[in-house]
Amino acid sequence: MTPPTTRAQRLAMPLARDVVRELAITRGACIRPVQLRRTDTTTGRTEPVLVPCGHTLAAVCPSCAKRGQKLRAAQCREGWHLEREPVLEPDPPNDEQLVWVEHRATAQQWRDHAETTGQDTADDDELIADLDNEITRSGIRGNVLPARPARRHRSTRRRQDTPELPRRAIAPRTIGKTYTAPGGATFRPSMFITLTLPGYGRVTSDGTPTSPDSYGYQRAARDALHFAALFDRFIQNLRRFLGYDVQYFAAVEPQRRLAPHIHVAIRGTVSRAELRQVLAATYHQVWWPPTDQVKHDEHNQPVWHEPTGRYLDPVTGELLPTWDQALDAIGENDEPLHVARFGERFDAQGVLAGSRDAARCIGYLTKYLTKHVADCHQARTGAQQEHADRLADALRYEPCSPSCANWLRYGVSPKNPREGLRPGRCKGKAHRREHLGYAGRRVLVSRKWSGKSLADHRADRKAWLLQTLGIAETDPGRYTWEPVTPGDPDHMSRARRLLHAVAERIQWQTALDRARRQAAGNSPPNLSATGRAA
Ligand SMILES: [Zn+2]
Ligand SMILES: [Zn+2]
Repeated sequence: MTPPTTRAQRLAMPLARDVVRELAITRGACIRPVQLRRTDTTTGRTEPVLVPCGHTLAAVCPSCAKRGQKLRAAQCREGWHLEREPVLEPDPPNDEQLVWVEHRATAQQWRDHAETTGQDTADDDELIADLDNEITRSGIRGNVLPARPARRHRSTRRRQDTPELPRRAIAPRTIGKTYTAPGGATFRPSMFITLTLPGYGRVTSDGTPTSPDSYGYQRAARDALHFAALFDRFIQNLRRFLGYDVQYFAAVEPQRRLAPHIHVAIRGTVSRAELRQVLAATYHQVWWPPTDQVKHDEHNQPVWHEPTGRYLDPVTGELLPTWDQALDAIGENDEPLHVARFGERFDAQGVLAGSRDAARCIGYLTKYLTKHVADCHQARTGAQQEHADRLADALRYEPCSPSCANWLRYGVSPKNPREGLRPGRCKGKAHRREHLGYAGRRVLVSRKWSGKSLADHRADRKAWLLQTLGIAETDPGRYTWEPVTPGDPDHMSRARRLLHAVAERIQWQTALDRARRQAAGNSPPNLSATGRAA
């Protein structure tokens, strides 16, 4: 090739670092690998190991996002048509765990004795906190002494405008019924359901309101904020109604009108009529203080009062009511701040294991997982841009949680207040444009779906890889790991890390291909393959 002579020719040449990045992406290598130092505790040898960043957004790392998406699809597939109850037996406690819990029991006895005899419990409390940390570190779930949540009677008051649902005792099974066809074949159908929120005003096919001024932006904002709680209610009701421990794998996605909706894979079946009944009876009431009156705008912000750790009214100098006081002020005859419900339109279809429909639905469920909620439908027209702006405006001063800074605007101290809170500047995810009011997780999976966490599915995949490559799994206790920081002598620059990540990826892909070819040809795999699987 003749060397380029003109500026235009030079500019047309690809940039070296872009080529490496592209190569990494096409090969599926992480483009932001993290460097760790691995020390072999038997030989004392250290070596650098690059681990993938594991980000779930394609905009950050396409390779890791894609891997995560595949893992989710595997999790979804595995749980949907389970034929046997997933086994979730916890391991018996080991000796270390027993010792810590014994210490913890003694410490509690000391502490409670000190309290009843009027002594200072500070030292005991500190010891207890340390022991609780050790208990958690030793791999025990939960707390030995769960904190008792304060009960507020009001929050359970049933709405009179909502039909009551027949309630059944929930049987411990998680698997749906099987049906037998006349020919004798049995099958166990499952469901794919899509739930949407109600309408807030007419929208055109591009998702924008026909009359933006009368569109219910506030309701849309509140429904989005409380969407996860509403879905939770729906599942509770569905379980009570069907009488078994229904399991689900769900993905929250935005619709074109920018309201969240949810695709749900459910194990077992429910008829459309039953589903309609459950949906009609499902609501979530938000018992928060009223926000219809702006008490403090930009010009008279509440002032932090250090001695009390609370906020003051800048004019009267009085303390703002605490979060608990404000909740207690909600009377028996007051209405909740918001009642969230699903809309009347829903979609439900039966799906059989291994069918083309099942594969298509899993595609739906994982389709947008690698994108931010707001990036699923990019604004292309002025109307769409304006619609997104109006929704963001509605979310700006809407309290997102009990600890939201926006409560100051309505004359209430947020829960756990601290200095420097400013209404309209809450850091909560829900207020950010890219979240459209929904700050919850994109994938909601019930505990007994596949009986495995994402980490378990990842471990399955790794075990399969190692087995295919014919590499013996190493004892995890043999190595210690530590992060490598830029000041360390063995630190690799980002560009160098990326080159190594690409090289490793190519090596093990080659090894994997060879192992597969050999397996297909029934010849024993050559075990001298590269020693490292990413
Ligand atoms: Zn990555
Ligand atoms: Zn907030």
